[in-house]
Amino acid sequence: MAYTIRDFLHRSDVPFEWVQLTTDEEACSRAGVEHLHDPRLPVCVFQDGSRIEAPTVRQITERLGWFLSPSRAEYDLAIYGAGLAGLSAAVYASSDGLKTVLIERSAIGGQAGSSSRIENYLGFPGGISGAELAERAREQACRFGTEILVAREGVRGEFQPGRCVGYLADGTKIVSRAIICATGVEYAHLGLPKEEEYIGAGLYYGAGSSEASLTRTEHVYVVGGGNSAGQAVMHFAPFASRVSIVVRGDSLESSLSQYLVDRICASTNVEVLTRTEVAGLEGDSQLQAITLKDRNTGQERRVATHWLFVCIGGVPHTEWAPELRVMRDERGYLMTGPDLLRDGRQPPNWPLDRDPYYLETNVPGLFAVGDVRHGAVKRCASAVGEGAMAVAFVHRYLAEG
Ligand SMILES: Cc1cc2nc3c(=O)[nH]c(=O)nc-3n(C[C@H](O)[C@H](O)[C@H](O)COP(=O)(O)OP(=O)(O)OC[C@H]3O[C@@H](n4cnc5c(N)ncnc54)[C@H](O)[C@@H]3O)c2cc1C
Repeated sequence: MAYTIRDFLHRSDVPFEWVQLTTDEEACSRAGVEHLHDPRLPVCVFQDGSRIEAPTVRQITERLGWFLSPSRAEYDLAIYGAGLAGLSAAVYASSDGLKTVLIERSAIGGQAGSSSRIENYLGFPGGISGAELAERAREQACRFGTEILVAREGVRGEFQPGRCVGYLADGTKIVSRAIICATGVEYAHLGLPKEEEYIGAGLYYGAGSSEASLTRTEHVYVVGGGNSAGQAVMHFAPFASRVSIVVRGDSLESSLSQYLVDRICASTNVEVLTRTEVAGLEGDSQLQAITLKDRNTGQERRVATHWLFVCIGGVPHTEWAPELRVMRDERGYLMTGPDLLRDGRQPPNWPLDRDPYYLETNVPGLFAVGDVRHGAVKRCASAVGEGAMAVAFVHRYLAEG
């Protein structure tokens, strides 16, 4: 729970001081509880001196005044997911005058919120942190009138022509004329025994932007050979005593942008472990060690570490799709536009004369943008571009009456 809260505050750009308790005496004096394993931990103390013991993210959003109920009985457009794709759609839709609601189950910014520095986004030659980019987009969307509901998860939907109903996990109903699904991907797990036990207790998914300063003088392991793993390595290198990047392939060059390869090679405290995978996790309540397996020889070795960051690609958030007969590919990504046509034929049960618009799913009026979409490029710029483009198709759909 402590990790979830820290991650949420960090991604949401809320200034906070993190006090890591290490002894029972500290737990008593600083948090006002009896010992380190007291179920009332973690304790969240607010600026006005008030405190909540073992809070949920929702309780924190309520206290920050961020937890809102929908103000309208019906919107023109409901967007699910406030990563860059959803934020972009929100900015363009609300600036075009559509009554827009943006629903986010966690913190604004999605994956970008965990990126310490995005260096290839147009217009920011010195790079920009993902959290800052997302915060700017949030501000822009709000300025144009988008209503944002955070800590709310869309779980189910119903579609009739011109009327879509989305149900949130807490039972709230959102009615809209069209929907954009921008729910992105979530990091894949390693699939190891006891993996769930160590999440937030030494094992993290993603680049760990809120953990970097805590890894000072420690040996950090990052799993994955893609750009997000490479960025994570460069993020930890100034803090940790040593960073090891664990990759299954023969080299980093095949999967990583050259600028990241160059930086990794130039860092004196970074080692690259190729043809290697993590085969086991050990510890008590905290991760203490991992087992590394050489993929050539099968030989295993145990190394001590309290920090393992997993950046091995993602799985899309589309569990709700089959019930609505929304078409997905074999890996769960939403199919849209021309990808739905087979030999030029429209998808089964498609009710209209026209073909699905580009970015429209096989359900008219339901669009998909960003990383959740089959064939997405998985870049910040393309997520932003698709968000903007989808709004143009939403207008066309709404004009059809
Ligand atoms: C560490 C890292 C570094 C990266 N660096 C770069 C880079 O330098 N350059 C680059 O171009 N790209 C980079 N990328 C890729 C880029 O960030 C992504 O392609 C892009 O941000 C995807 O945006 P998205 O909005 O499609 O999805 P996401 O960012 O995944 O956002 C989806 C959002 O939907 C929310 N959500 C999910 N399900 C629900 C639901 N049921 N109800 C409500 N909300 C829901 C999620 O909580 C999330 O906030 C990086 C990615 C990572 C992880």
